[in-house]
Amino acid sequence: MSIKQNVQQILNELPQGVQLVAAAKTRTPAEIMEAVEAGVRIIGENYVQEAEAAYAVVGNRAQWHFIGHLQRNKVKKAVPLFDMIETVDSAEIAREIDKRCAEIGKVMPVLVEVNIGEEPQKAGVLPRDTEQLLKDISTLPNIRVVGLMTMGPLSENPEDSRPYFVAMKKLFDHVKELNLPNIDMRYLSMGMTSSYQIAPKEGANIVRIGTKIFGARERR
Ligand SMILES: *Cc1c(COP(=O)(O)O)cnc(C)c1O
Repeated sequence: MSIKQNVQQILNELPQGVQLVAAAKTRTPAEIMEAVEAGVRIIGENYVQEAEAAYAVVGNRAQWHFIGHLQRNKVKKAVPLFDMIETVDSAEIAREIDKRCAEIGKVMPVLVEVNIGEEPQKAGVLPRDTEQLLKDISTLPNIRVVGLMTMGPLSENPEDSRPYFVAMKKLFDHVKELNLPNIDMRYLSMGMTSSYQIAPKEGANIVRIGTKIFGARERR
């Protein structure tokens, strides 16, 4: 199937109100453009440099979400480019985003990335530390927390993801009910190629899909 057919199939499948982020790491600007022409409205990028190359071709035909691990020294370049940063997992990186946004007069919508499986090697704040991190970064004037994001443990069997999605939704509802000032709990970003049919059933309203759109990635 072509990129176009893949996108159309996914868009038909996703329930109303669930946003598709095309996870574009390793893809060429031409491939990304094909996805946009097929109806993708949001591109997810893991690397600032790749995003710059793709942005030069696609520009504002799509929105740009940062979904990778953001290094402090890349924030200055990331901030003008992206419409949302989905992977804030420390007060330190949030402060750097805030500072760089202040310099260019921007308020950045961000999601807080949660390490819901508590995997040692994985990015994301631990579930038990999430509330405190939200409180710490809610005071920053140039970022706006609009939800949570997770990768979840990877597994062959998509059903293995479900309990983690359920736990994320519970955490999401909990922090939403706190009504923290300056925090607008609107988005729950979870579900990838293997699990995008399950995630919305458990409360996701953003799914991030790469392989199912663009085909298998080459290892690098
Ligand atoms: C690559 C990636 C995805 C998509 O993964 P696929 O399995 O190819 O759909 C989603 N989220 C993040 C953060 C990614 O890096």
